[in-house]
Amino acid sequence: MSGLLHLAEPDSRRFVMFSGGEGSYRAAKIVRARHPEAPLGLVFTDTLYEDADTYRFLIEAAADVFDRRLNWTVRAEDFPDYRVAEDVPIEEYRGNPEWRAFLADLRARTMEAIPELVWLVEGRDVWEVFRDERFLGNSSVDPCSKILKRQMADAWRSGNCRRIGELFGPPDVFSVGIGDHEAHRYDDGKGRGIGPRTAEDGWIYDAPLLTDPSDFPSFFMAPIETFGLRRCRLYGMGYGHGNCGGFCCKAGQAHYANRFKVQPERFAYDAMMERKVGAFLGAEVSMLTDRRGGDGKKVLTLDAFAQRLIAEPGTVYEYEPGDAGCACFGVAG
Ligand code: SF4
Repeated sequence: MSGLLHLAEPDSRRFVMFSGGEGSYRAAKIVRARHPEAPLGLVFTDTLYEDADTYRFLIEAAADVFDRRLNWTVRAEDFPDYRVAEDVPIEEYRGNPEWRAFLADLRARTMEAIPELVWLVEGRDVWEVFRDERFLGNSSVDPCSKILKRQMADAWRSGNCRRIGELFGPPDVFSVGIGDHEAHRYDDGKGRGIGPRTAEDGWIYDAPLLTDPSDFPSFFMAPIETFGLRRCRLYGMGYGHGNCGGFCCKAGQAHYANRFKVQPERFAYDAMMERKVGAFLGAEVSMLTDRRGGDGKKVLTLDAFAQRLIAEPGTVYEYEPGDAGCACFGVAG
């Protein structure tokens, strides 16, 4: 746990980095239960590329954290398509206008109904960032997460929050929904991870799911339906994470083998966008890497990977540690 947590005070404001995933929802429930008098906020950095049902879950989960009953609902079926036609030039790509307008309206309605939810938007999605940065993200370098999530959250935090030693109040405490299976992302024991990195700058971060669960065990392990919520649909499709609608430039072959199987039309769209970015850059680039042949890492486009999946239907792709998605916790570092 953060070595600075003892510096928090009873009236320290609490913020939970809210992702639309179950981990951050559970973290928020724990924080609210443990600090019922403390002001609480949820901070969501939107890539404009989440699955429609993730937005639905995010809103319902945030309302539940604050015991709000909304007089409206949103269903995944209500969302327009997030995709654009194949003939839209990548230079002109701004996402699907109907999707963007729907999200803008949803965002405004939600923040009016749940003012404790801070819904941050940079304004571009992952493909626009790849184009504008002239770099297709991969498992090692993720400009999308850096720009759309970490830098956005960092700028908001700098403008609105307090670190240790500031004159105008006790330091704020930020919580992330990191669980046991990825505890190293909070603190790997070697000074890396969100806890020690943010502590260097005087910010206090904790990870409630890595603490003793004995005071509120249900928030740690009870099925999500216990709280009157319905799981995001992506969880039922074999995805290791639901960020960016099941797309992720950092995900590995196992992730995309699953996407090819459960959402082939979305895989095909990812492949098309990857092709467009590659053509724009004038280079053969890919998110995946091919390690076959023992001669180092090679480009493996989604198109080439699809051909491999079709040609070798019996091949089983195992998830490797950390290849299921990004650590999009909204923390600069
Ligand atoms: S989930 Fe993946 S694609 Fe989306 S912002 Fe994070 S690293 Fe980028």
